[in-house]
Amino acid sequence: MATDILDTVAVAPRIRQTQLLIDGEWRDAVSGKTFETVNPATEEVIANVAEGDAADIDLAVKAARNAFESGPWSKMDARDRGQLIYRLADLVEKNIEELAALESLDNGKPIRDSLAADLPLVIDCLRYYAGWSDKIEGTTIPIRGNHFCYTRREPLGVAGQIIPWNFPLLMVAWKWAPALTAGCTIVMKPAEQTPLSCLRMAELAMEAGIPPGVINVIPGYGPTAGASLVKHPDVDKIAFTGEDATARIIMADAAATLKRLTFELGGKSPNIVFADSDLDAAVAGAEFGLFFNQGQCCCAGSRLFVEESVHKEFVAKLVERAASRKLGDPLNPETTQGPQVDHAQMEKILNYIQKGNAAGAHCVTGGTRFGDKGYFVEPTIFDYVTDDMPIATDEIFGPVLSILPFKSIDEVVNRANNTHFGLAAAIWTSDVKKAHHLANRIKAGTVWVNCYDVFDAAAPFGGFKQSGIGRELGAAGLENYTELKTVTMSL
Ligand code: NAD
Repeated sequence: MATDILDTVAVAPRIRQTQLLIDGEWRDAVSGKTFETVNPATEEVIANVAEGDAADIDLAVKAARNAFESGPWSKMDARDRGQLIYRLADLVEKNIEELAALESLDNGKPIRDSLAADLPLVIDCLRYYAGWSDKIEGTTIPIRGNHFCYTRREPLGVAGQIIPWNFPLLMVAWKWAPALTAGCTIVMKPAEQTPLSCLRMAELAMEAGIPPGVINVIPGYGPTAGASLVKHPDVDKIAFTGEDATARIIMADAAATLKRLTFELGGKSPNIVFADSDLDAAVAGAEFGLFFNQGQCCCAGSRLFVEESVHKEFVAKLVERAASRKLGDPLNPETTQGPQVDHAQMEKILNYIQKGNAAGAHCVTGGTRFGDKGYFVEPTIFDYVTDDMPIATDEIFGPVLSILPFKSIDEVVNRANNTHFGLAAAIWTSDVKKAHHLANRIKAGTVWVNCYDVFDAAAPFGGFKQSGIGRELGAAGLENYTELKTVTMSL
């Protein structure tokens, strides 16, 4: 397991000491400051990263504004804009192994997951939105009187985009692709834990021919670079993915300039298994739904409701699967579980495990740190969890699953909805009527039936309640980057 893998990567020198991307140029931060990014599997420093703050954000916003108002991007033929986004997708595909390795080094995710899930979804998202570029249409509206009325969808302007560390590249694609397609320009602040793949993506965007100033990337910390972006008067919109606590700060900071906001936040998603389901498929879905990406998924199925009559059998099968997960070097293609992203996350998760034990839940597998190097946590399952325990109410964002037995449909619906989150849910049953009945009653932005974590760039994703505002992906994700103009003409 060696950070030296970077030496085999073509861009190694630039990745070891990174710069900010402003107006198509790589620059050091105005302050000259840098911060370190660490390989969570080895605890070794991978790179020194130029650390942007208010002064750099201001330069980046000016560049994005200039590119939007005077540059070719928003005025370019929509089809030509689409071609450049297709070209970026092709370059990602060409460099897929290197990008996947960067994700594993910086985030700790198993390379098999990056290659099988993250990168294909990145490419798919870019191509999906590239295809939309010449299909952003208005409508004609029959209004009273002798008038001709129509609507146009215009690009919103300068988009500030702030993303988390759990899917670094996928979050870049979810943010860049619709914004670029709509004709917006971008200032992105990647998460401080995982800036490397975003910076490499920015290089590829320039190689694809996306004009200078259209995409600007400023790594840095939330309260400095992030907050400056949110407060900047010349930013039209903030698209944020991260924790609900951070979203509250962003909403308050954005109030002075009344920015458009879209939020993709956390969850405590119910995964509901009925006795009439295909139990083996449900066991596999429960494992994948929680342990994928080391449990660091906003939509992790972290509250597993199991019908009482199959509870014991189900738990025995699930424990066997969880215990057979292969923890270790994320660059080893056999590895199925890597480390948590950093020391703080590992400590937070271990603390929740202690809380679960203290509250009287039964820890049936895992429960400790794995090894003494790297931020690994064993796949952990608590059984007989009650709704009020912290492990059932709080987003842990780690490989810790809570099992809650239930008896009836009404009971499980009420308990599943008893949370301020509403991001996702899953239902496992062979009864179609029951599936539709529950899909209607569960308060969540996405409901999976007999599957989990099925994502497609065409399917909108986002939260009910405090799991978010607005949607990403699909047509809804594109609308967030447009303003709707109504034109009325006297005839
Ligand atoms: P976080 O909120 O701590 O950080 C996210 C980003 O916000 C980072 O770039 C951070 O630097 C920045 N930030 C922090 N403080 C800020 C401030 N005051 N102003 C502006 N920016 C600030 O979240 P995280 O720990 O990086 O990510 C985990 C969270 O993200 C989880 O809650 C998870 O559920 C959520 N998430 C949601 C989705 C979704 O689509 N709904 C997807 C992935 C992750």
